[in-house]
Amino acid sequence: MAVNFADYKNIWVYAEQRNGKLMNVALELIGEGHKLSREISADTKVCAVLVGNEIDHLAAECFEYGADAVYMIQDPVLAQYTTDGYTKALFDAIEEYKPEIVMYGATHIGRDLAPRVAARCNTGLTADCTHLDIDMDGYIQFAEENTTLDTSKVKKDDPKAQGLKMTRPAFGGNLMATIICPNTRPQMSTVRPGVMSKREREVGATGEIINVKVNVTDADIRTKVVEVVKSAKELVSLTDAEIICSGGRGLGGPEGFELIKEFADKVGGVVGSSRACVDNGWIDHSHQVGQTGTTVKPKIYFACGISGAIQHLAGMQTSDIIVAINKDPDAPIFEVADYGIVGDLYKVVPQIIAEWDNAEALADAAK
Ligand SMILES: Cc1cc2nc3c(=O)[nH]c(=O)nc-3n(C[C@H](O)[C@H](O)[C@H](O)COP(=O)(O)OP(=O)(O)OC[C@H]3O[C@@H](n4cnc5c(N)ncnc54)[C@H](O)[C@@H]3O)c2cc1C
Repeated sequence: MAVNFADYKNIWVYAEQRNGKLMNVALELIGEGHKLSREISADTKVCAVLVGNEIDHLAAECFEYGADAVYMIQDPVLAQYTTDGYTKALFDAIEEYKPEIVMYGATHIGRDLAPRVAARCNTGLTADCTHLDIDMDGYIQFAEENTTLDTSKVKKDDPKAQGLKMTRPAFGGNLMATIICPNTRPQMSTVRPGVMSKREREVGATGEIINVKVNVTDADIRTKVVEVVKSAKELVSLTDAEIICSGGRGLGGPEGFELIKEFADKVGGVVGSSRACVDNGWIDHSHQVGQTGTTVKPKIYFACGISGAIQHLAGMQTSDIIVAINKDPDAPIFEVADYGIVGDLYKVVPQIIAEWDNAEALADAAK
C-alpha cells in the first residue's frame, strides 16, 4: 500500500524506563534525536515516548535533556513491561500520531519491542546502529572520515536517500553498512547504549505533554509477569561505569581477574573483559565489552592484555581516555590508546595500584 510520506512528522524516542527510572540510553537518544530533528527542519520536533504507569515525573527529565514534547502512554495494564502490551500501546500511538522516525535503545527490551512494532507497522528496522544521519553532506563527510566508501558514487540528490541513513557494523565488524528505508514510514532503528551523546542538561526546561489514549486490556497480553527476580549478573553495569578495568587473554587464566578486580576496586571502576576470556569460561558474558558484548563509553578505559581486535574496539573506542597495557608494542590497541604502557600486566597493574595507594596517602596527609 502506498504510504503518503507527508503524513509523517517528528522524531520519536522510546524513552525506556524501568521501575520509574529512565535508562541512560533514552537520554542519549533524545540528544541524537534533537540533532537529527534540526537536520530535517526547524519545525521538526524530537519527542520522548514514555510507556508505563505512574511515570509523570519522568517527563521533566526528558525535557531537560532536549525533548520538545513528551507522549505519555500510561495505564495500570502497562505497569510491567510485556511484549504484547507495549507493542500494542506503541503501535496504536504510531498509527494515530504518525512519527517520521522512531528510535529505541538496543537494550533487551528495545530489541524485543522494536521488531514487533516495526512488523506491525509494516516498516523496516535497522538494529544496532552506531551512526545516524539525515543531512547528505554530513553523511558523506562521515563516510569519508570513517569508511573506504567511494563517495563520488553517492548520488546526493537521489530522492530515496534523503531520509534517515542508518549505519551499523556488519560481517563481524569488518564492514560498515548504511541502510535506508525509502518506501515505508516510520523509519526505525535501535541504537546501542553508550554510542550517542546526551545533551547538556537544561534544568527547568519544559515542553508539551500529550496524553495518549490507551486501548490495551489484559486480554491483549498473552503473558503474565508472576515475579521479577534480579540476577546477580545485572549488578555489572558497564554502560553507566565511569571507569572500566578490562582484562583479556593476556591474563593467562581466570585467576588473572582477581588482579583486575583488585585494580577496579582500587580505582572505583567496574570489571570488563574481552570475548576471548568469556569464550574460555574465565568470566561471565555480562562483563564482555565489544560488538557482541556491551558498548561502553567510560571516562577511563584500562585495557590489560587485550590485543585490540576490531570487534573489541567497536565497543570501547569512544571512551574518553583509553589506557592500554600490553607486552607487544605492535598490538593494535595502541592505535586507539591515549596512553600506552608496553610491559607485562602482572608487573604494571600492581605498580599502578601501589601508586594509587601512595597518591591516596599523600592526599590524606595534605588534609
Ligand atoms: C562476530 C565476532 C564478534 C566478536 N565480538 C567480540 C566482542 O564483542 N568483544 C571482544 O572482545 N571480541 C569479540 N570478538 C573476538 C575478537 O575478534 C578477538 O578474538 C578478541 O577480542 C581477542 O581477545 P583478546 O584481545 O583478549 O585476546 P588476544 O587477541 O589473544 O590478545 C591477547 C593480548 O594480550 C597480550 N599479552 C599477553 N600476555 C600479556 C601480559 N602478561 N601482559 C600484557 N599483555 C599481554 C598479547 O600481546 C595480546 O596482544 C568477536 C569476533 C567475531 C568474529
